[in-house]
Amino acid sequence: MEHADCIFCKIVSGEIPSSKVYEDDAVYAFLDLSQVTKGHTLVIPKKHTKDIYETSDEIAGDLFARVPKIAKGIKETFQPLGINMLSNTGEAAGQSVFHLHMHLIPRYGKEDGFNPLWKTNGDAYSQDDLLTISKEINSNI
Ligand code: AMP
Ligand code: ZN
Repeated sequence: MEHADCIFCKIVSGEIPSSKVYEDDAVYAFLDLSQVTKGHTLVIPKKHTKDIYETSDEIAGDLFARVPKIAKGIKETFQPLGINMLSNTGEAAGQSVFHLHMHLIPRYGKEDGFNPLWKTNGDAYSQDDLLTISKEINSNI
């Protein structure tokens, strides 16, 4: 169901224009206006869901099931060297539109404009630390 004041619901309904890449019964994919790299695409479920926490298994399954063919379409079109798949949940993580979306960001090299600022901290964690953390998370699933 369309969610009032959600710009992505308005994109699905056609109320707000978009550059459509793909559409079927469950998902809609369109170019991200910011075009971090050429072909930067957003894949969204047609049913409104705010973020990954609120997403049902069914919606998540439908969404992710479409990602491979859309990614392959981008690869076929622009021959990127790779693609980053990214979904932000919560403002702290960079979410600015609160309708679940998967970014597909084709990569053309280290200086292509996308910088994930990925810092590794593996040295700060022992095997025991990792075991404790993994058990803590597992106990809440
Ligand atoms: P996020 O910051 O992960 O929530 O991503 C939201 C994305 O939506 C941003 O990359 C915006 O550039 C993009 N965006 C916002 N409004 C539109 C729009 N009307 N059409 C296409 N992309 C949009
Ligand atoms: Zn929505």
